[in-house]
Amino acid sequence: MPIHEKSLIRPENLVTHEHLTLDGIDVSGHWSTFIRSRAVTDYNERMQEEIAALPGGEFIHRCWQCGSCTNACTVNAINPDFNPRYWIYLIRLGLEDELLRDKDIIWQCVSCNKCTYACPRDVNPEGVMKATAHWLELKGHTKQKPSTAFDEVFSAQVFATGKIEDGRVLRAFFARTGQSLLQDWLVAMMRGLLSRLPAGLMMKLGLATLFRPRTRGWGRAGRAIAEYVAERETADRRALGLER
Ligand code: SF4
Ligand code: SF4
Repeated sequence: MPIHEKSLIRPENLVTHEHLTLDGIDVSGHWSTFIRSRAVTDYNERMQEEIAALPGGEFIHRCWQCGSCTNACTVNAINPDFNPRYWIYLIRLGLEDELLRDKDIIWQCVSCNKCTYACPRDVNPEGVMKATAHWLELKGHTKQKPSTAFDEVFSAQVFATGKIEDGRVLRAFFARTGQSLLQDWLVAMMRGLLSRLPAGLMMKLGLATLFRPRTRGWGRAGRAIAEYVAERETADRRALGLER
């Protein structure tokens, strides 16, 4: 498996002597640079299996490291450290410690699916990113990320009412993540909506915020979906050996 974009030589493993003479030859500075040997003894042999057991991770074994996913990735274009190909490489080799160095950015995948369309092996890299972020949370390597908090408040509203009311979802999400409702972008968006939307539609939106509409006869369907999601969560935890 080639490494195209990222060096495994960490700066802290490079050692240079400022003043060094060997056999009468001055090798001070970068002439004396050597790489501290790096023995990997902490392989997680189950990492690929565990991530493959989570939704989205099923086809990780197909990856042949062509790099098309990283090349196409929206987030990689902004942050070169966001590298799906590299993370898939680490997971397949069980290099958990290396993966954990990037644990706080993996969740930032925006689900644009450009990688999924670019992948010649149907790995579903977007799904692998989601499965990996989920794995990191379940294993306790990361705290709950904003994307998971959003998924939860969104799903809770669907279970309860069978409808999505954007204002309610946003309020619940901001409350959960400790953010103010008065975000500049939100205020600008609301101003734009107020100036452009027809009055009738604005009224409907306002009433939906106040009265929480429900889909008629939703009760059983909502309970069945909530039950399925709970079963799925138990299965995910069991696959990681977290629940018996
Ligand atoms: S879905 Fe995620 S990993 Fe794939 S291209 Fe978009 S941001 Fe990158
Ligand atoms: S595009 Fe597909 S096969 Fe190529 S590195 Fe990414 S996941 Fe692997």
